[in-house]
Amino acid sequence: MIYDITRRITSSLPVWPGDTPYQVTPVMRMADGDPVNLTTLTTTAHLGTHADAYFHYVAAGAYVADMPLEAYIGPARVVTVARVDGPLRPDDIGDIEGVERLLIHSAVSDLAEEWPQQFPYLSVPLIEWLAGAGVRLVGLDSPSVDAFESEDFPCHHALYRHGMVNLESLWLRDVPDGDYELVALPLKLDGACGSPVRAILRS
Ligand SMILES: [Zn+2]
Repeated sequence: MIYDITRRITSSLPVWPGDTPYQVTPVMRMADGDPVNLTTLTTTAHLGTHADAYFHYVAAGAYVADMPLEAYIGPARVVTVARVDGPLRPDDIGDIEGVERLLIHSAVSDLAEEWPQQFPYLSVPLIEWLAGAGVRLVGLDSPSVDAFESEDFPCHHALYRHGMVNLESLWLRDVPDGDYELVALPLKLDGACGSPVRAILRS
């Protein structure tokens, strides 16, 4: 069984305030007699369900094309948290022995296409605890691993220090907690600070 945990990309899908929304512009139209339909995309790199590259917040960090692929594919655990806002702590997550990839399911997955400004996010103590346990990837349904109002992004930097990667804006509605195989590969985009992913879980 496959769970598609990717948000649908439409022109009304919210992006971070001030960022470039997704737009599809037809260049050729079969309805107008052209031999094919051809479309040009305009978009932020942080579109819907996406991976952040280290270049997003580290001046000389890796472009998304050079992020470690093996982190985005392999065994993963889905854990639902009760917290709806504020920093997550180890207590919110529970046992993570043997977990390599952790996907955090919160009430944000139940918001349709709204852009939340309050949501659960990571904390440096949580990231250090996860790193110590061998977790390589952390994914959230929240739009950021840091607080909405954060300007120094301590959680992004803690992930970088530990060689971990993140996924944001997952869509985990109706996915039971448990262990799966995750596939969420970013595109090989040179010069880009992130990439949308098609994230799936296989049971
Ligand atoms: Zn991002």
